[in-house]
Amino acid sequence: MLPPVAIVWPCALSVDAYASLGKNVDVPRPDCPGCAAAMVFWSGYIRPVRVLGACVRLFVRRVRCPACAVTHALLPAFVLVKRLDAVEAVGEALEAVLEGRSGVRPVARALGVPHTTARGWLRRVAERSGELVMSLAALAIELGAKPAPEPTGKGRVVGVLKRAFTAACALPGWTVLGAWRFCSVVCGGRLLCANTISPYLVVGRRRFMAPVPSPDDKEDRTGGT
Ligand SMILES: [Zn+2]
Repeated sequence: MLPPVAIVWPCALSVDAYASLGKNVDVPRPDCPGCAAAMVFWSGYIRPVRVLGACVRLFVRRVRCPACAVTHALLPAFVLVKRLDAVEAVGEALEAVLEGRSGVRPVARALGVPHTTARGWLRRVAERSGELVMSLAALAIELGAKPAPEPTGKGRVVGVLKRAFTAACALPGWTVLGAWRFCSVVCGGRLLCANTISPYLVVGRRRFMAPVPSPDDKEDRTGGT
């Protein structure tokens, strides 16, 4: 039995479109990541997401596996576990700084996030860059990318993410998401979490890598920045 996890689904709706649908978003119902049984929708919770400095309130659905008696949250791909900011904002800051186009302060101002928040994103990705590069490079290969030398330098996480996303774009339905929502899906929303992730991707019924149980995911809190 798997403890509660956040399952990120490939939502292509804008944040506003998702929010305005309230509880009527057409959310896919996955099978249990622990035992593969069919799950049932099981209420949900409200959580905020920040876009360009403004907070939007969203309804996040839960599903429950009757066999495991465990509920899991179904996060739309534009959010990250326990983070207030949309993944596109995080991605834009990471790209701008790691590719050398901007400092942290100006990009944070442009995105309407505190400077310390954006600095925290950069710090976390730097701490985990080795692990992220390795996992995303492996995912790119699984998705059919040609083996390539591992990228080096500050922008290597962004480089290898884009390589994996380009490979995923050969499969139906992924192009529309963009690289950062793809990133959220394959990281299970845990790009900025401290513990280990293994990127995985469900295409049809094939799971490319197994999700990692994360007992602290239960509530997907957004109290931190
Ligand atoms: Zn189950």
